[in-house]
Amino acid sequence: MPKGEDFRPEIDMANPGFKIGLKFATAELFRKAVRIYSINCGRELIFMNNDRNKIRVVCEEGCLFVIHASSVSGSTYLQVKTFNPTHVCSKGTKNIHATAAWLAERYSGKLRLNPNWTGSSFAEQVHQDYGYRPSRATLYRARALAVDIVEGSYSKQYEVLWDYCHELRTRNVGSTVIIKSEMEGPHPRQVLSAMGVDANNGMFPLAYAYVEIESNSTWLWFLELLSGDLNITNSHGYVFMTDKQKWLIDAVDALFPHAEHRHCLKHLYGNFYMEHRGLALKHQMEAIARATTVPWFHAEMRKLLELSKPAHDWLVEKDPAQWSRAYFKSDSKCDMLMNNLCEAFNHSIMDARDKRVLTVLERIRLYIMLLMAGIRVFCEKWHGQVGPRIRKILEKNKGKA
Ligand SMILES: [Zn+2]
Repeated sequence: MPKGEDFRPEIDMANPGFKIGLKFATAELFRKAVRIYSINCGRELIFMNNDRNKIRVVCEEGCLFVIHASSVSGSTYLQVKTFNPTHVCSKGTKNIHATAAWLAERYSGKLRLNPNWTGSSFAEQVHQDYGYRPSRATLYRARALAVDIVEGSYSKQYEVLWDYCHELRTRNVGSTVIIKSEMEGPHPRQVLSAMGVDANNGMFPLAYAYVEIESNSTWLWFLELLSGDLNITNSHGYVFMTDKQKWLIDAVDALFPHAEHRHCLKHLYGNFYMEHRGLALKHQMEAIARATTVPWFHAEMRKLLELSKPAHDWLVEKDPAQWSRAYFKSDSKCDMLMNNLCEAFNHSIMDARDKRVLTVLERIRLYIMLLMAGIRVFCEKWHGQVGPRIRKILEKNKGKA
């Protein structure tokens, strides 16, 4: 084998250089180095042949640039035999070698540190660094590939899901962990959750599931498991509160026919607001919901009638057992009107929702762990990141839990 330096991919690949005698362990390594060199120097270099033993690289017609490498006999090595780095051409604004795979590899570190990097700032960065503007489709693919690099590929994550669940079971004795994996389709993206309320009106997470879609069948599956886990044989005395999603109403009614089923007041107000606006109406609606006796309820309803007959008539149609304290069952010891706990939970995991399965599950687990450990400082810090609305709720409830 002729003498010559070895190309060290781990060091040299970021900014490859060539010289006569330089040796590459394989033809693939040489090709990769040429592609990156091509991007770095701003020229679209061309591979003249696809031979394992002999590769000639040139620039555009008339340019002097050339690399010629050929195999070292009896090995997989390829050695540079001819090299002229002189370009008489000018730099281009596109490059066939700046592929999504290259972008993903080149920028995965940056994407990891800054997961919310927008497509346009990504494109701007590439342009600044190399003078190219990748297409949106290329950027999109690059981002997906970079996520694979950072978070482990989608299928890989599912491969270790069983190990992850096994670990959950052994570390959280008494918890139920179930995988049902008949799912098809590449990206299940919904988190279902059931939040309980403890004796201090604090959040007590009961169960969560990562499912393909939110539907009647996934809610039924989830609530059946919840029912079994909580050992609910007779649903008397239980209170469920939902945002009135159609399939959730059906599932709760089917599985817990004797339970009280409330609808979140905030959600009801959202519908009310579509037709009946104004702060006075809002406050009156809240006063009606907060009234704790039937005569009081009617007195507040009459006040609403004085304010607006259409608003009154709209509300009269709604079953007060679902949203007014005056009509809640007296055997339940919970007077909550709103789903704030679920909202706080959903907001806390919001930014992890479009991540890979293990990232989502880990985020939920960490959030619950902090809650359960009673580390209020951490929880408040956590909530501190979720925006002004939830912060307000937390401030309002300060000292309660
Ligand atoms: Zn050239």
